[in-house]
Amino acid sequence: MNPQGQITRRIAQRVMIGHVPVGGDAPVVVQSMTNTDTADAEATARQVFELWQAGSEIVRITVNSPEAAAQVGRIRSQLDAMGCDVPLVGDFHYNGHKLLAQYPDCAEALAKYRINPGNVGKGSKRDEQFADMIEIAIKYSKPVRIGVNWGSLDQAKMARMMDENARLAEPLSSDALMREALIQSALESAEQAEALGLTGDKIIISCKVSNVQDLLMVYRDLGSRCDYALHLGLTEAGMGSKGIVASTAALSLLLQEGIGDTIRVSLTPEPNESRTKEVIVAQEILQTMGIRSFTPLVTACPGCGRTTSTYFQELAQNIQRYLREQMPLWRNQYPGVESMSVAVMGCVVNGPGESKLANIGISLPGTGEVPVAPVFVDGQKTVTLKGNAIAQEFQAIVEDYVQSHYAEGGKLRQQDADLDQSTQHKTIPLKAL
Ligand code: SF4
Repeated sequence: MNPQGQITRRIAQRVMIGHVPVGGDAPVVVQSMTNTDTADAEATARQVFELWQAGSEIVRITVNSPEAAAQVGRIRSQLDAMGCDVPLVGDFHYNGHKLLAQYPDCAEALAKYRINPGNVGKGSKRDEQFADMIEIAIKYSKPVRIGVNWGSLDQAKMARMMDENARLAEPLSSDALMREALIQSALESAEQAEALGLTGDKIIISCKVSNVQDLLMVYRDLGSRCDYALHLGLTEAGMGSKGIVASTAALSLLLQEGIGDTIRVSLTPEPNESRTKEVIVAQEILQTMGIRSFTPLVTACPGCGRTTSTYFQELAQNIQRYLREQMPLWRNQYPGVESMSVAVMGCVVNGPGESKLANIGISLPGTGEVPVAPVFVDGQKTVTLKGNAIAQEFQAIVEDYVQSHYAEGGKLRQQDADLDQSTQHKTIPLKAL
């Protein structure tokens, strides 16, 4: 971090994934991956669309069979027809060289190919099949991600390294050797790709492990040994809070050191949970670290014995959901709205103070307090809400604020507007309240 409090980014070559730049001075990009069967084009296009609407800037799909490869062009066309231009990345293992050669529509429709050097082929076939994929990437002018995973590390390479290590006077520990094997596998494959003619600005590297400390050590080392753009992610992070905490811990520390050009949070969804959760978590990591803004965030107090009802929790939750649901529309309509802050506080102890710091804040009545809720806009108390429609009226205030402050010319209109907005708010029911 420099004296101005800005993170100094590691310098990496800039790679274009379709129209999305990764690396160089481009912002850190959020990406995700579908969990549908790619052979089911409808379901896959639908999930890609949902991930894109949630804010995923690149989406990866599995291309594991002829049936899947045959549908990739159709998925791309469906997305284009829906107005969704998110670049698609094909995830290939074992048979990628064949699928890309046999399905030129697939090779053309994808914006990047992910190649796992450990899963390209065995023995002498490995180099040949890797070269086939790189040549196709060159032919279609596509970048690749050389994505190494601890779980699928090239076993022949690992065995060779273990033998060599055993002969050293001071051998590396098995963990250190594993980390070195990951990095070498990625860098040697990248070198091989460059020797075949793929330029460095068409190569992204990842070396994923599932342990936070190992990931930190691997990426620090990897980052200092090359200038390729880096895809960051903790693999198999897990489910629920464990997955979120582990990913946040690992990614935040590396991002703080300027390492990482695109991130993916690999969460295992709970049954029936939306896949978009991983996009939201990735965005929130970047936004809470002050690296990028995606959606207005709601500051809420944790609640305590002074808030005996769930009303305040429901209001915080519903306002956050409302803001997130509006973003696909607001993103283009109201530039800058993603930086807006909203505070929902449970009582007068910290409520007014925290509300004044946000663009818009509400301080709800705690137990035993007068049943009124003062609202603060840009630090000034503008209205006190009361009665049964506090939630609806507060949402309407938020919507008015967005329209008057973020629409083109909105700030100017706001200066002329009647400051008393309390009687003019549109009422839109909050879901579930
Ligand atoms: S603001 Fe009030 S309700 Fe919220 S945690 Fe603090 S004391 Fe409790």
